[in-house]
Amino acid sequence: MSFTPLGLSQALLKAITKKGYTTPSPIQQKAIPPILEGKDVLASAQTGTGKTAGFTLPLLHFLSENPKGKFRPIRALILTPTRELAAQVYNNVKEYSEFLNLQSAVIFGGVNQKPQIARIRQGVDILVATPGRLLDLESQGVLSLKRIEVFILDEADRMLDMGFLRDIERVIKTMPTRRQNLMFSATFSKEIKKLAHGILNNPVQVEATPENTTVEAITQKVYRVAKGLKTGLIIKLISDGNWKQVLVFTRTKHGANKLCKKMISANISAAAIHGNKSQGARTKALAGFKNGRIRVLVATDIAARGLDIPLLPHVVNFELPNISEDYVHRIGRTGRAGAKGEALSLVSADETTYLQSIEKLIDMKLPVEIIEGFEPDPNASTVPEKRQQRGGGNRSRRNSGSENSKSGGQKNNNSRRRPKRNNNRRNNDKRH
Ligand code: AMP
Repeated sequence: MSFTPLGLSQALLKAITKKGYTTPSPIQQKAIPPILEGKDVLASAQTGTGKTAGFTLPLLHFLSENPKGKFRPIRALILTPTRELAAQVYNNVKEYSEFLNLQSAVIFGGVNQKPQIARIRQGVDILVATPGRLLDLESQGVLSLKRIEVFILDEADRMLDMGFLRDIERVIKTMPTRRQNLMFSATFSKEIKKLAHGILNNPVQVEATPENTTVEAITQKVYRVAKGLKTGLIIKLISDGNWKQVLVFTRTKHGANKLCKKMISANISAAAIHGNKSQGARTKALAGFKNGRIRVLVATDIAARGLDIPLLPHVVNFELPNISEDYVHRIGRTGRAGAKGEALSLVSADETTYLQSIEKLIDMKLPVEIIEGFEPDPNASTVPEKRQQRGGGNRSRRNSGSENSKSGGQKNNNSRRRPKRNNNRRNNDKRH
């Protein structure tokens, strides 16, 4: 199937051709028609499925076919959880709107607000934003959301994970009630369904991949290994396989820094990307990784969200996530847009319960391998390591807020106030 039958304008088809897309991805085939009809849509799609074009193309079609004259109020808001995703979505919006008379801007925290304000004052039709900076500029009177016609909530599950629920509610209060709403989420928890119920009116539901299952193009494997041998094993895998581009996940910021240093000592170019890094350092690391200067990007879950690295061949879970859904997000970085990819997990005894929950979620047993010289420790405890024991009193707690300029939300705040009694599902304060 080509893009033509979807009914998008010639200017959009020209931009699509320029991007080199010939066939709409499944989520695009399913989401574009109802969005063009003006319906609310609830879409299940993870990064890598082409979801951004899935909502951006019909949005641009609608806005350009229904112009509002010279005066440009903000007519569409795309809300994303992380700065990287906001930047990524904005780039897509710009590319797809190249041949249209539409203006767009992106705003997020961690950088000077002045250029963002100047850009908004020039008039924009489409605003891509993270919640913190958006509410900040809205309360300063720099921008108004009173003329929003289309509201898009991207990666809604991650929004909730990062504690943005209240911010989302505040944003919604500043918008007119009559508007089209589109919500995209990789996973569908009870909380997400509740949020969707509160935002969407009679939505059409579309799905790119079945709920909580991993993409078929990805080869998954588990290496059982003693905890203390993980660094040696990952260095061996990267060197022996001569991997040129590998994304490695750690559970904590501290762990990401530590592993990154060890890679560099082993003469493997590496950079870490997490919430304690400045926006400049994050952008530089990502650019270096994309252009091949950096072989290994070590990331935490939240920092990695929304990274668009086409054809990433290898993803390694240096540590398994304690939230099973994160495993699906992580390995979704490979095997993108139909390409083959490999996702490997280094699993020590104390991660056994995490592995079991992941296998339950994805409904498959992952093949296990043991490499000679890197065997698991038969005497190691299978009890998950307590977060209090990891890098106790570590420096990262000071900057424990979410990645955006806001202090996060309920979950983060709770975890800071009651660190000892934290039974939250997520250890948000150390995961970024
Ligand atoms: P997304 O899921 O929106 O992050 O997109 C993942 C990647 O797929 C991006 O690099 C897009 O440029 C690419 N992409 C999106 N739609 C298509 C398409 N129809 N054909 C080929 N690639 C696409």
